[in-house]
Amino acid sequence: MRMTVIGTGYVGTVHAACMAAMGHEVLGIDVDADRIASLAAGRAPIREAGLDELLARTVKSGRLRFSTSLAEGAAFARTHFVCVGTPQRPDGEAADLRCVDAVTDELARHLRPGSLVVGKSTVPVGTAARLGRRIAAVVPDAEVAWNPEFLREGSAVQDSMRPERIVVGVTSAHAESVLRTLYTPLLRAGAVFFSTDTATAELVKVAANSFLATKISFINAMAEVCDAAGADVTVLAAAVGADSRIGELFLEPGLGFGGSCFPKDIRAFAARAEEIGAGEAVAFLHEVDRINTRQRERTVSRARRLVGGSFADRRVAVLGASFKPGSDDVRDSPSLAVAASVAREGATVRVHDPQALDNARAALPDPTYTLDIPKACEQADLVLHLTPWPEYQQIDPRALVPVVRHPVLLDARNSLDARPWRAAGWSLHALGDPTGG
Ligand code: NAD
Repeated sequence: MRMTVIGTGYVGTVHAACMAAMGHEVLGIDVDADRIASLAAGRAPIREAGLDELLARTVKSGRLRFSTSLAEGAAFARTHFVCVGTPQRPDGEAADLRCVDAVTDELARHLRPGSLVVGKSTVPVGTAARLGRRIAAVVPDAEVAWNPEFLREGSAVQDSMRPERIVVGVTSAHAESVLRTLYTPLLRAGAVFFSTDTATAELVKVAANSFLATKISFINAMAEVCDAAGADVTVLAAAVGADSRIGELFLEPGLGFGGSCFPKDIRAFAARAEEIGAGEAVAFLHEVDRINTRQRERTVSRARRLVGGSFADRRVAVLGASFKPGSDDVRDSPSLAVAASVAREGATVRVHDPQALDNARAALPDPTYTLDIPKACEQADLVLHLTPWPEYQQIDPRALVPVVRHPVLLDARNSLDARPWRAAGWSLHALGDPTGG
């Protein structure tokens, strides 16, 4: 089947390549001409495991092409996936829908009768219905459906090719049937298919992200209590998570969540709930957000204590810049937020990251960046482990002792094995660790 994928960022690029890999004919569209030129040459604008290879293969096959023209897209296909960004508004906590609205209005000018516009962007409940009315005013028998995206950065290709569930919000049996047909290979591979109204589909996405964010903030709240009580949150998390009703995933105490989804999604959800008179029902999300932000402050104040009360004239090595391992995305990265605070308080900061250095440099120009772990740690008074890349588990702590000025490490992700570090002479600290001080 033919389709366009509008917006070729993290979601759109992966969706376009995966749909082409499933045998569909796909036209990827973006307003960013440089991005389109690089995609057309088979080069991914983002780092994701397996994406370069998939893109090269599907572009070469001719099933995946790219364009900057929505008019060309409307002539090419009757199904259009919208994957543009919905960031937080600059003037508040609600979602900024300008890109979604712009695409809708422009598409409406060119759409052929019977077209189906399928939103994948994360939007406030009621958006699909609003856009549906907007499009129907111009093209009477065109329809808007919503098909929220659940991929995780770091495993986006795998998540798209083997999703656990596919959720579609539709207003007609025709739209459901088009989407079922498009996703047939994924359904055959075991994905559970939920077909519902557009409002429910929109809400599934923000409800899922809110639940996961709440789980993370819950365990971080427990970490704060453990700190106060002299208890060990790592053992607590393992024991609580061993209950199958709770589960161990997302119960990892530490620096908290970041990235381009959880923080802005829970804020936009709370803002939208307020608008529709359900603000009180999700007021707890404000607390989830506050707990999360506090982990960044706790990390900075613990680090400050570890360098003697002030960062002035101190050298701090930062391990990790991306918001999570496996991704080059630094949007609302907790690691970069901590690096920025420490630098602002007078420390000389050197940041290591295996994949996100270009993005990190663009977002935060001040620190020095390096691809070499020992170089990042040279003469450091403190090493901060902030993004738990697998590389950092492989570090030989003995080899780093002569490199640093003081062998002091704060593991803000509670994920390094403390024994070899301590055996090598490091003073190792973690959030929620009763011996951490
Ligand atoms: P992104 O910022 O990486 O990409 C958005 C793309 O849309 C950019 O390339 C931009 O140039 C393009 N764009 C903007 N306006 C356009 C227009 N008028 N016409 C054509 N293209 C336009 O965003 P993303 O991370 O891919 O997220 C996209 C949506 O998916 C958001 O709503 C996000 O919340 C949601 N989402 C993201 C993830 C994720 O992990 N990144 C996961 C699930 C859902």
